[in-house]
Amino acid sequence: ARRVAAIPKAQYGGRHAVTMLPGSGIGPELMNYVKEVFRYAGVPVDFEEVQMDPKSESNEDLEYALTSIRRNGVALKGNIETGSMSRGVLSRNVALRNELDLYINVLHCKSYPGVTARQKDIDIIIVRQNTEGEYAMLEHESVSGVVESMKVVTSENSERVARYAFEYAKKNGRKKVTTIHKANIMKLSDGLFLETSRKIASDYPDIEHNDMIIDNCCMQLVSKPHQFDVMIMTNLYGTIVSNVVCGLVGGAGLLSGKNYGDHYAIFEPGTRNTGTAIAGKNIANPVAMLNAAVDMLEHLGHHYHANMIHTAIDRTINEDHIHTPDLGGQATSIDVVQNIIKYLQETTKTSNW
Ligand code: ADP
Ligand code: MG
Repeated sequence: ARRVAAIPKAQYGGRHAVTMLPGSGIGPELMNYVKEVFRYAGVPVDFEEVQMDPKSESNEDLEYALTSIRRNGVALKGNIETGSMSRGVLSRNVALRNELDLYINVLHCKSYPGVTARQKDIDIIIVRQNTEGEYAMLEHESVSGVVESMKVVTSENSERVARYAFEYAKKNGRKKVTTIHKANIMKLSDGLFLETSRKIASDYPDIEHNDMIIDNCCMQLVSKPHQFDVMIMTNLYGTIVSNVVCGLVGGAGLLSGKNYGDHYAIFEPGTRNTGTAIAGKNIANPVAMLNAAVDMLEHLGHHYHANMIHTAIDRTINEDHIHTPDLGGQATSIDVVQNIIKYLQETTKTSNW
């Protein structure tokens, strides 16, 4: 099978350069926490920061971001608000994924034992087609009052998604893959997606494959989520289901998502929120973005630092219960970050001596 997302070579001294797109809302403050945590952990990564201007009518900032990511191979990203509804202005988020052909989004939805949530012990992998489907951005008003929007499904992309999911299942000892669709109504588009995943499934006789209609899937997720292991789905179902599962596990502030193509990778919070209403209040949960940063370090092969930060986050949430308001706690963003840094300092002290 082909490799997904080539890993960039380290520069002199083993350091990596990474594009940082702080985005809008809580993005910039979360990025400051990442920088702070990296400094204390001694992470050999240099950020190249690119600001996006959501009000801009030109796409110059987008071009600049693309150039930077193509050079570095990897980006850490906050959500970018699409400020203008004007037709010439693309959603920067969608445009980045499409231009870089980041055809897969992976969300590992794993419960934190220390977080009180609607469901316990969830461990689901959502593999989502990330560039086409309803996000093809092909809409037009054919006659006044009639808008047509094209949903694009290709066998090539359906196959890449299914292949990734089954390979993931095989490598990680997962038992079952479920394809989510609405092929009973969208017989051609979702039909192709489903048919393709069945074809790929036949290459993996040791992994169970089943399928489920999207509406039933939402009901099953809320009532009996433990039946799911690895899930594959098209773009729009993917964003909705990701939000459902994040909600079950503890909300928008915890989990991270990975976007992969053959050449590039972007790491970001799993539900891609801007968090405009909570920006600048020192209440945003820094964990989702820190987890995205840990994913990025894993991708670059900096396993020691990834593990150090990951452990510090887990202990802060599960053992010390330092929780921001989204998790029902009263801690500030800075309380969480300081507690994480406390563990990093303990680790770096003992390893230096
Ligand atoms: P969108 O950008 O999709 O419009 P919002 O920014 O409104 O989404 O976020 C959705 C919800 O998730 C809001 O209630 C927001 O406060 C919450 N949220 C998002 N990110 C975080 C975070 N890091 N910590 C706490 N709450 C968050
Ligand atoms: Mg918003």
